[in-house]
Amino acid sequence: MRLRRRSRRSWCRRQCCETKRPCRCGRMPLAAGRDWRSVCVKACGYQAQEETGIQERDDEMQITELTALELGRKIKSKEISVREALDASYQRIDALDEGLNSFVTLDRERAYARADMVQTQIEDGSITGPLAGVPVAIKDNLCTKGLLTTCSSKILYNFVPTYSAEAVLNLEKAGAVILGKTNMDEFAMGSTTETSAFGPTKNPWNTGHVPGGSSGGSCVAVAAEEAPYALGSDTGGSIRQPSSFCGVVGMKPTYGTVSRYGLIAYGSSLDQIGPIAKDVSDCAAILEMIASHDKKDSTSVARTDCDFTSALVDDVKGLRVGIPSDYLGEGLDDEVRQAVLDTADALRQKGAVVEEFDLSLVEYAIPAYYVIASAEASSNLSRFDGVKYGYRSAEYEGLHNMYKKSRSEGFGEEVKRRIMLGSFVLSSGYYDAYYLKALRTKALIKQSFDRAFEKYDIILAPASPTTAPELGKSLSDPLKMYLGDIYTISVNLAGLPGISVPCCLDSKGLPIGVQMIGDCFHEKAILRAAYAYEQARGRFAMPGITAGACDKSEAKAGIRPGSNYDTTAGTHVGGKHGTAVEAHAGNTVPAAPSAPNAAAEQEGE
Ligand code: GLN
Repeated sequence: MRLRRRSRRSWCRRQCCETKRPCRCGRMPLAAGRDWRSVCVKACGYQAQEETGIQERDDEMQITELTALELGRKIKSKEISVREALDASYQRIDALDEGLNSFVTLDRERAYARADMVQTQIEDGSITGPLAGVPVAIKDNLCTKGLLTTCSSKILYNFVPTYSAEAVLNLEKAGAVILGKTNMDEFAMGSTTETSAFGPTKNPWNTGHVPGGSSGGSCVAVAAEEAPYALGSDTGGSIRQPSSFCGVVGMKPTYGTVSRYGLIAYGSSLDQIGPIAKDVSDCAAILEMIASHDKKDSTSVARTDCDFTSALVDDVKGLRVGIPSDYLGEGLDDEVRQAVLDTADALRQKGAVVEEFDLSLVEYAIPAYYVIASAEASSNLSRFDGVKYGYRSAEYEGLHNMYKKSRSEGFGEEVKRRIMLGSFVLSSGYYDAYYLKALRTKALIKQSFDRAFEKYDIILAPASPTTAPELGKSLSDPLKMYLGDIYTISVNLAGLPGISVPCCLDSKGLPIGVQMIGDCFHEKAILRAAYAYEQARGRFAMPGITAGACDKSEAKAGIRPGSNYDTTAGTHVGGKHGTAVEAHAGNTVPAAPSAPNAAAEQEGE
């Protein structure tokens, strides 16, 4: 089948770059004293490729404008010190984050101490990796030893882990310096970062819009150039969808590639940690660092093919690309559809063989996902009871009343909705009708992907049906919000790797991302396709947001992490400004991630 052709890029070039009329995003392409090409890149995300090819990076580039690998190279060559890199990120955070609210906790003091240590290790040659000394932002559901880890929930407002997640340790071994922890939907349940107990995060492309979720804080930190790269987690699209809304690259690896040890579990059989960065090369390099076999996670896979950066070749000749026609129909925004077709064209021009096909079972993915994810969540979240760690209600009568009140007051609305749904589908009488049926559907969805990968090397798809919605428009209709996960959740149900790459901006000036999906353990196929596409597209500039651009009034609505709900013993450093807060003594969460069938086990109890 022949795919429709698009004209947007040439329209953009003609209107914006060649005739120098206002671009579709409304900005003028020529600013006084500046090269019009760079303004065009800022304004519409495109570069005048015919004239320049991939934009050359120049020496005047700010530290925060560099990609993680570029910064790593400059640190290695002693052009920039680790402290300077850290200063640049914190200055940007200080200027912007009161409005954007992408971080919930900053770790300034320890970061500077670590920067000095890493600098010495780089100089004495004991750390040699490509991202040594580069600062990183970590999603707040990844445990970090001695640093608040709240899952953006009131129930964990004071939780300070006694250990770090394996992925975080892997980064630290490679010389990463943690800036702080990023905002997210509470317990990673949501698609907008509005269910956070610490107020919503705002999209730096337009602060009246959401950044997507649940890893919205991590994606905004990268898009607003507060952090060169970040870690997120993806249970049903939480890396890929916000990456697409924020114009950054986000990747969910094959299930089992990155250890889930220390990732506070949402849906254990679906959760994966992954990188969020400015480009595909960064993503490959980060994944190479965090992928590891870990005995502490029983679902971790021992892989011998983790040299992901070897896939960064600009060559897709003969690559077989399938686009599910079921993904291009009703419900998909026209501009997003066009972006997918544009991407297909770009790959075809580089020698890939692109065609549409029927994936089938697409309409069953959302119900199956929400049954399975909620069932596992209801089991995983049973450990938060006000006894071992986190929030405890101030007034209660007896043990059961304490559980009830702590959980009622500690969890937000969306989390309670999932716990109720999960408990319902696991309850006797409904287990077969809902939970088992959802597991069977999951197996069938995996089979339809298996059939597709007999014919195709990668699947090209939208990341989300629309671009970022306006703040405050999504939570009132949860079912509608769940429908927005249509293109991402099957990838988790089937355990596949997927990457979201920015393609262009829509008519409102918001980024559109396209998704590339690979067969299990075939990350290299999608990295290669995404890299080749990126070479054709040119540099996708970040929005270049400045301090006055966001309204600071709403971002801080809600409670703050580390604030005082109780006065139980123990003091640690945490909170956004590194203030000392009270905590329960002996805060811990169970170290090993729950087995994928934890929900089923609970039912059997
Ligand atoms: N939006 C989906 C949900 O709410 C996906 C979230 C995720 O991947 N963590 O479940």
